[in-house]
Amino acid sequence: MFSWVFQHLERKHERRGNFQKAQLYRVRQFSHPPVSELRNSPVWNPVGKYLQACFNLRFCVQREVYLQARHDELYEKLNIDPSAGDTSWSVTEMQALKKALQSMPKAIWNLEREAQRLLIMIYDEPLERMLCAHHKREDWYLSKWLRAECTRSGGCCGRACGCCERQRNEMHPQYKGHCTSMCLCCEKARGCSIMIDNYKNDVMIIDIFQPDFDDARLSYAYSWINAYVVGLDPEI
Ligand SMILES: [Zn+2]
Ligand SMILES: [Zn+2]
Ligand SMILES: [Zn+2]
Repeated sequence: MFSWVFQHLERKHERRGNFQKAQLYRVRQFSHPPVSELRNSPVWNPVGKYLQACFNLRFCVQREVYLQARHDELYEKLNIDPSAGDTSWSVTEMQALKKALQSMPKAIWNLEREAQRLLIMIYDEPLERMLCAHHKREDWYLSKWLRAECTRSGGCCGRACGCCERQRNEMHPQYKGHCTSMCLCCEKARGCSIMIDNYKNDVMIIDIFQPDFDDARLSYAYSWINAYVVGLDPEI
């Protein structure tokens, strides 16, 4: 089929504000390799990298809040009763937390630039338009499927706290998102902390562009792509 026809229809529906139909015509304008080849597909690989930068950003934005809370907790403990427990351990730990905390603004700033750069590198234009149209919608990430995914991973969508709908970090009010292992509210609910400093080790984030998801169930992989890249209502 001629792609210019689909592009014409895409624009028509875009002008009319019909997001679902515009996305359907965008889907028809680029290639769809098998899920196992997504990572190596020159068209899809940049999309995977962009999404990974977004996951990393989500993790770091939550980690900054997490480190600050841990730091403040120790500080308070030391201030209330300086003689209690092993103070030298607490002081060393507090210094380590402070050091990690100080590196966060730069890490987040770099990640923001990286995400921007990776977005530019999605050279397939209909695919880029599709991703941007989806992510431009307010609260796109609060779809039924992504909320269920958050619940399955032990996140706050399975509870009534509403953390995923609110801003998580005052320093970066533009970022809302589902829980990572750095979510303080989740930590309280599960009763233990998860000591990781890299989003790639975070079992609460499922990323089918990682090598170990080569054999992801096909229906799962399609739902995943739909949730993060396309945004079609499942009924359509
Ligand atoms: Zn919560
Ligand atoms: Zn959530
Ligand atoms: Zn949470």
